[in-house]
Amino acid sequence: MNYVKMIGQWDEDLATNLNAGLEHRVLAWARLRLERTGHAHFDKGELLRVLEVVNPRTGELSPVNARTLDRTVNALVDQGLLLPASGRRCLRPVGCEQGARNAPVTECKQPRATANEVTG
Ligand SMILES: [Zn+2]
Repeated sequence: MNYVKMIGQWDEDLATNLNAGLEHRVLAWARLRLERTGHAHFDKGELLRVLEVVNPRTGELSPVNARTLDRTVNALVDQGLLLPASGRRCLRPVGCEQGARNAPVTECKQPRATANEVTG
């Protein structure tokens, strides 16, 4: 396995590890999806689906609750790890604001004013 693949595999394992804390998993998804622009984009509802968790009542896997995801993203913002513009459709790691050199200009998928209100 080459180095880049090894790192990607590590992030993928963490992102889907049901025993890992949600904050770790959200950051792993941000790394997996990070574009050259410094944005990690997700389709509507996608981040909820890929962050499936075990439902304590039924024992079955289900998408993470939207409010739980919002709280997790806000906690990561408070910790200075994600920019406040982050939300269910776009994770913006702190330090990646400028994007990579020669990054293409793309439109953000995250509606700004309603960052946490948009229905996932
Ligand atoms: Zn974005």
